[in-house]
Amino acid sequence: MKLKGKVALVTGSSQGIGQAIAIRLAEEGAKVVINYRSNPAGAEETLSKVQAAGGDCVLVEGFCDNDRGYSVGADLGMIDDVRRLIAEGIKHFGQLDILVNNAGIEKHAAFWEVSEADYEAVMNVNLKGVFFATQAMVKHLIETQRTGKIINVSSVHEELPFPNFTAYCVSKGGLKMLTRNLAVELGPLGITINNVAPGAIETPINTKLLNDPQKLGALLQNIPLNRLGQPQDVASLVAFLSSSDADYITGSTFFVDGGLLWNYHEQ
Ligand code: NAD
Repeated sequence: MKLKGKVALVTGSSQGIGQAIAIRLAEEGAKVVINYRSNPAGAEETLSKVQAAGGDCVLVEGFCDNDRGYSVGADLGMIDDVRRLIAEGIKHFGQLDILVNNAGIEKHAAFWEVSEADYEAVMNVNLKGVFFATQAMVKHLIETQRTGKIINVSSVHEELPFPNFTAYCVSKGGLKMLTRNLAVELGPLGITINNVAPGAIETPINTKLLNDPQKLGALLQNIPLNRLGQPQDVASLVAFLSSSDADYITGSTFFVDGGLLWNYHEQ
């Protein structure tokens, strides 16, 4: 229960990695603001799993578990919605301590065929949304004179090229510098910020890959630990970085990739 008394907001937590993070943070005692865009059923599923994960603790602590999970619909491409999302989380729980910028999308296209709409969609969710959600969170922490933790779900592609996904790589590369810059700027305020960078994780974002045995086999050969990652593999690292055990850690990227990144460099 390392996060007892903390409130965490996890963007894009209706499925995949975000859902696992929301559940894991609840298991560690945090109250969780669940965020979704287009999958209310998934958000409901997260909500009930968060409540189930927190149920025991609620009984022990003797308070109603209604306030352990809270769904807010928000399109992170819209700055007003990003601000509303943070504001609603604060309004519901009275505070925010942890922001996990998890929501992310990717669009496949050769560089010369990338449309402006697809470029904007990727950058708005993956970078601009993170930028302004973090800004709203930091303003809240400054106003309430509290410290806090920000964790961005980046990707091995903040380092590794990924042909035909240039906007995605640009967005995740941008996250790397956002985190380094803010570590310096926010450090004096006691606010830490770090990136968690998954490799290949079994989530809906990889549905196409998961259904292509040939591509999947080739990928697995590049992963020294010889398996895809699970959302929980990422969630456990986020839980650590959200906790006071990580108080002296800021501005870093931590890879959760079964060794994929270093194997790639060796080839
Ligand atoms: P996913 O597609 O299962 O989940 C993405 C989540 O983001 C969904 O819940 C979706 O609703 C949400 N989202 C997208 N646009 C949004 C918006 N405008 N507003 C609010 N929410 C929005 O994918 P995932 O694998 O769980 O991805 C989570 C994060 O992990 C992403 O940032 C992704 O880039 C990153 N990542 C995933 C992998 C992987 O292999 N799965 C690898 C590296 C990085």
